[in-house]
Amino acid sequence: MKYYGAVEAGGTKFVCSIASDPDHYVEEIRFPTTNPQETIGKTIDFFKEQMKKYTLKSIGVASFGPIDLHPDSPTYGYITSTPKPGWKDTDLIGPLEKELGLPCAFDTDVNGAALAEYRWGNPENVKSLVYYTIGTGVGAGAVIDGKPVHGLLHPEAGHVLLRRDPEKDPYQGHCPFHGDCLEGLCAGPAIQDRFGISADKLGENHPFWDVFANYLAQTCVAQILMLSPEKIVLGGGVMHQEHVFPKIRKEVLKLLNGYVQSTAITEHIDKYITPPVLGDRAGACGAVALAQSAETE
Ligand code: ADP
Ligand code: ZN
Repeated sequence: MKYYGAVEAGGTKFVCSIASDPDHYVEEIRFPTTNPQETIGKTIDFFKEQMKKYTLKSIGVASFGPIDLHPDSPTYGYITSTPKPGWKDTDLIGPLEKELGLPCAFDTDVNGAALAEYRWGNPENVKSLVYYTIGTGVGAGAVIDGKPVHGLLHPEAGHVLLRRDPEKDPYQGHCPFHGDCLEGLCAGPAIQDRFGISADKLGENHPFWDVFANYLAQTCVAQILMLSPEKIVLGGGVMHQEHVFPKIRKEVLKLLNGYVQSTAITEHIDKYITPPVLGDRAGACGAVALAQSAETE
């Protein structure tokens, strides 16, 4: 059996594990994201200990961002302009490669999750897929032909601007950069801030879910029109509200108004906009998927 190191580098916690694939996790450790020195130190210590027991092929790091993904850049492998205190301009990959001597793959947490869904949650065998997390923040990753989409930096689709109806939703949004962008309107903390109770306590019949469905539908429509993916996966804590999926799909059809003529949308939208097949494990599996991509024989 082949073993890979996986790091789910989140803003609140790090999860480091040893796995072969999503069904075979053999070791795992979780610890809070404190300062970079301590957090990266604990990550290195965990793998050094495990490498006494397992021969690792490579390590995959699926990280919160923004991050520098350009191999030619002097700051490749860094967490760059994050507002998270102490983490701005932090070299995450350099110390891991130096101390562990293994090839490391590095990508955003959401590109990792998109790759995991593409590889292990894709019975339709689509060639392009977009993955959103709607949780503490909102982010999106995309995979085309097995490769995560990078570009100038990497997609930051959680911060796109939406058309907000000030009558139905007078809330100004909580994104410190943009106010009422997608994350500012739909992330868990934005819902909590709006109503003074957490999203999971609102109840299925709360009128907000129609507004929320409209925002997510606007988001899906933008992806359909710009990237034209073959599948859109909506994950993260807030999407545990499964009753919103039918509302989002219906609203997507309404907003598109017949413009995009693909039966994947017009007839099979239930399979086109879906929860993650890997469920809440999509993020964690992302790091394993990335590690597999970095493997050198
Ligand atoms: P993170 O984004 O930090 O990785 P999650 O994806 O679990 O973590 O998202 C956490 C957010 O999701 C919180 O704001 C929480 O209120 C919200 N959340 C968790 N479970 C539910 C639920 N069942 N319904 C609605 N919102 C939820
Ligand atoms: Zn924003």
